[in-house]
Amino acid sequence: MEIIRTTAWMKQVARDARVKERVLGLVPTMGALHEGHFSLVREAQKQCSPVAVSIFVNPAQFGPGEDFKKYPRTFDADIAALEKLRVDYVFAPPPEEIYPPGFRTAVIVEGLGEVLEGRVRPGHFRGVTTVVAKLFEIAQPRLAFFGRKDAQQARIIRQMAADLNLDAEIVVCPIVREADGLAMSSRNAYLKGSERQAATALYRSLDAARREIAKGERDAASLIAVMRAVLDAEPGVTPGYVEIVDADTFEHVVSLRKSCYALVAARVGATRLIDNALIEQEGESFNVAV
Ligand code: AMP
Repeated sequence: MEIIRTTAWMKQVARDARVKERVLGLVPTMGALHEGHFSLVREAQKQCSPVAVSIFVNPAQFGPGEDFKKYPRTFDADIAALEKLRVDYVFAPPPEEIYPPGFRTAVIVEGLGEVLEGRVRPGHFRGVTTVVAKLFEIAQPRLAFFGRKDAQQARIIRQMAADLNLDAEIVVCPIVREADGLAMSSRNAYLKGSERQAATALYRSLDAARREIAKGERDAASLIAVMRAVLDAEPGVTPGYVEIVDADTFEHVVSLRKSCYALVAARVGATRLIDNALIEQEGESFNVAV
């Protein structure tokens, strides 16, 4: 496994792969790797060779009051894990490789980037799309792998890739969860004591919606009320948004339709967590993937 620190060298590797008609797969991450990230790597390895994992804690996607400084950084453990998985390349540039002095360009996906996470975290998606556009330009992936854990992010990146005629095909992988349902996240490391158990409320709220849908509930407001009730019942959890949106437009729906997301955001102590379920129509019924 080769650890690449410069954009110039990553570009060279990408060029070599293209010349040899190899299918380079990219897995963008911010490190502090866990099984959720590894699932993306394994999927990439099924579809691509070589596979590159980027590790870059992107300052541009953190707001002023957010956790950029304390975001978990576990580089040595990440490298050991990726080596064990037989990843070909790790692209881990220092910030100045990505944002040299004088940097002043941004990629913004309008509309989709302004609702939900975009509303709560102004500038977040601008930071995400800008860095992902740069990573795509540097690594030239034929396929790039993202988690449904960040469903809005994946939708926005797919839009960006289409709008900018990028070659990268976006692959979205399922959410990997702990045994008790908590969606894996680097930020779970912040959870202290009883917060860890309380954090399962996000999953439990989605699971409650799933049960209601199985019983025939189709009304978004009723499902949102069910989800909110689960979050409200958990002391130590402060609900943020609880929404059901069209999976394509991310606009609110009144009742379930073809393909929707139930999205929840909540604070558990000082830690902000998000989770979602994908709701897809199949004939008369709806399948819910949490
Ligand atoms: P991050 O390092 O948090 O920026 O995440 C890097 C990629 O891993 C993103 O595409 C995330 O959606 C994905 N990811 C994070 N957690 C999970 C999870 N629990 N299951 C699946 N994918 C995940």
